[in-house]
Amino acid sequence: MFSKKNNKIRILSFVLMIGILSGCSGVDIKTENQVEKNEIVKDEISYERSEFVLGTIVSVKIFEDGSEAILNEIYEKLTEIEDRMSFNSTSSEVLDINAKAGETFVIVSEDTFEVVKSAVDFAEKSEGRFDPTIGPLVQLWGIGSEGAAVPLKPELHEALDLIDWKLIEFNGSETSIKLNKRNMEIDLGAIAKGYASDEVVRILKEHSVSRGIINLGGNVFAYGEKVDGSPWRIGVQNPFSSRGAYIGIIEIKNKSVVTSGIYERFFEEEGKRYHHILNPETGYPVEGALASVTIISDNSMAADALSTILFAAGVEEGKKILKTYYPDVDAVFVTHDKQVFTTDMTDYNVNWTDDTFNIQP
Ligand code: ADP
Ligand code: MG
Repeated sequence: MFSKKNNKIRILSFVLMIGILSGCSGVDIKTENQVEKNEIVKDEISYERSEFVLGTIVSVKIFEDGSEAILNEIYEKLTEIEDRMSFNSTSSEVLDINAKAGETFVIVSEDTFEVVKSAVDFAEKSEGRFDPTIGPLVQLWGIGSEGAAVPLKPELHEALDLIDWKLIEFNGSETSIKLNKRNMEIDLGAIAKGYASDEVVRILKEHSVSRGIINLGGNVFAYGEKVDGSPWRIGVQNPFSSRGAYIGIIEIKNKSVVTSGIYERFFEEEGKRYHHILNPETGYPVEGALASVTIISDNSMAADALSTILFAAGVEEGKKILKTYYPDVDAVFVTHDKQVFTTDMTDYNVNWTDDTFNIQP
């Protein structure tokens, strides 16, 4: 049994480890899903930066037509997205919307408007498993913060009463948003990093940069292809191991790979682990057979949202959601008993590298 304090130290040391490794190793950035070792030809001209933004270490590596100026523009954009969508900082557009809940519309940037709109679309298609108004529940559990604890029942019910994505109102003509009940709170934690990743790719395209690797704390975008025209080889995070170990390697061009799972943010109380993906019906962390879900998609925001959604939905329901709404998106489901289920994945090669996992046909 771990005390909460020990866990915090463990989580903190992960963060420090990532920081140190990404600081000194250059090529091989050790954060969850990652580029295979020696993937990048050492003497290729590239521009690279790693900074803490959006609550995680973001590293961007670009090739050929890159420049320091492009990196500057990218990190300015990432900081802007944080300033607009953060739930944890002291001010942001999302916090402004939350502060005016039950009162008035708040005018926001097109970025925030678009992400909240998309979040509502994901909420609808996932039948509420994904809910951007999860904020009060996230606050109450405090997972990933100092005060993480299992909430008391009355508080839990109070928070559950405030969670309903249908109570988000939009005014498209002035890009404003209103929450229809006092104390409601939007939290874009399950989707904002994906949006940010797509924005980085948009900036690269604008500057005619055709190849690069973007890694937002394990949300990877393998943009373009390798110098010789072959695909990038991306390691899929092993949910039972500390960051850095993977269960297999997928070979992709121009796609994003995002994983959600039990290993990311959690605390333990009386021997039970509580992780950070919450069930808006029960108010508790999602329970089920899954330890992680990895999504492979052209669009990183979809990958981010769907990794959370499919983790909550499970294998059968998850596959149904993809088939119905996102036929071009692939998923790798890993269960607690180390079974691996996947969608067809017809467009690219996958090499399973850890034989302690059972790959299901
Ligand atoms: P991470 O951000 O650690 O990569 P996810 O993308 O899976 O992981 O997002 C988890 C975060 O999303 C939580 O920390 C919380 O802020 C938020 N969240 C938790 N449960 C839900 C839910 N059911 N719907 C929408 N957002 C959620
Ligand atoms: Mg997500």
